[in-house]
Order: sequence, then structure tokens, then C-alpha cells
Amino acid sequence: MRPELETLVKLQGIDLEIRKLNGQKAECPGRLDALKEQVADKQAELEQLNERLTEINKHKVEIEDEVEMENARLSKSQQKLTSIKTDREYQALLKEIEEIKRANKSREDEILSTMEEVQSLSETIKTMEKELKAATREMEAEEKKVKGIQEELDSKISTLAKEREKIAKGVRPDLLSQYNFLKDKRAGLVISTVTAGVCNGCHMNIPPQLYNDLLRDEKIYTCPTCQRIIYVDMEKEKA
Ligand SMILES: [Zn+2]
Repeated sequence: MRPELETLVKLQGIDLEIRKLNGQKAECPGRLDALKEQVADKQAELEQLNERLTEINKHKVEIEDEVEMENARLSKSQQKLTSIKTDREYQALLKEIEEIKRANKSREDEILSTMEEVQSLSETIKTMEKELKAATREMEAEEKKVKGIQEELDSKISTLAKEREKIAKGVRPDLLSQYNFLKDKRAGLVISTVTAGVCNGCHMNIPPQLYNDLLRDEKIYTCPTCQRIIYVDMEKEKA
């Protein structure tokens, strides 16, 4: 293998490592994002439950006010009973009193069921608050962990980047720019071996003349199909 190619293979090795580390870095927040979403969902649910609780309490106060008003009306009507002259008026008033009592009885029932709902809703809210606290703690712990891992990866990447810079200086500029140009297009694999006349980058046949040139190893060639820089791995070729 030509020495400039050897340097380039070394450079590719480092780039692939950097690529791998960057991939790991990108994957890091995956679980954290899920936990953040969980916390946001719980917060929204809790907010809704609290709104419902406020609504029910407000409704309860309204019915209680109604009961109070109707009770005042009731005692007025009951007082009036004593001063009534005709039987017809008396019967009508009695009927009215019964109606007020019946309506208030159903209001009292509603207040009771409202109180039960407040009770059960308050318990649900308490549970939800505990869950939210736990989810928040878990999220914060994950956040810390992710930050640690990312810092570690960053430091590895920066060490590799420095090493890369040194090696890149030893590569012929035209070769380096060709390599850089293809790097992202070929998922980091720019330099490929050729085995038995086939490019291992794209698995296509190399024209026989080019293959003969490659075997002579006098200069650097590229694959006519995938444009990767190619060379023959003599060890493999003999095998
Ligand atoms: Zn190829």
C-alpha cells in the first residue's frame, strides 16, 4: 500500500471513531426526552384535576347558598301558615312548603355526592403529586447522567480531533480534499479494499485494466462506480 494511502486509512479510522462517538452522543438524550415527556404529561393531568376540583367546590358553594336561601323562604312560609284564613290558601301554602323541603332534600343529596367526589379527587391529586415528584427526580437524575456521559464523549472526541489534525497535515492536499468531499456521502467509508476484482465499498466489478493498475500500486485510484479511493489488500488477495 502506498504510504500516503496508509496515512489516509489511519485518518479514516479516527474519523470513524469520531463518527461513532457522535452517534452515541446523539442517542444519549433518548431516555431523558421520554422522562421529560412523562413529567410534562403528569403536570398537565394534575392541572386538569385541580381545575376540576375548583369547579366542584364552586358548584358545592352554589348549592349551599341555594339551600340557605330556600331555608329562609321555608321559615317565612311556615310563619305565614299561622296567619292564613282560608283552607284553600292554607293547602296551597302547605304544598309550597312540601315542595321547598323536597327540593332542598335533593340539594342536600347533591352536596353529599359532591363532597364524596371532592374526597376521591383530592386523593387522586395527592397520588398524582407523589408520582410527579418521583418522575421529576428520575428526570433530574437522568439529566445529570446524560450530561456526564456527554462530557466524557466530548472529551474523547476533542482528543481524537487533535490527533486527526496532526495526521491530516501529512496527507496530500488534493487527496485530503477528495477524502473530505466523499466522507459524508459515503457514511465515513471513503477508502475501500478491492478483493478479486470487486470493490468492497460498492460490491461492483473493477474494469480489468484498472485492476491490473491497482495491483502495480504505482498511484492512487478510485472506484469508477462509487468514487471511493481503492487499493488491493495483498494479504487478502493472496488468500
Ligand atoms: Zn466502489
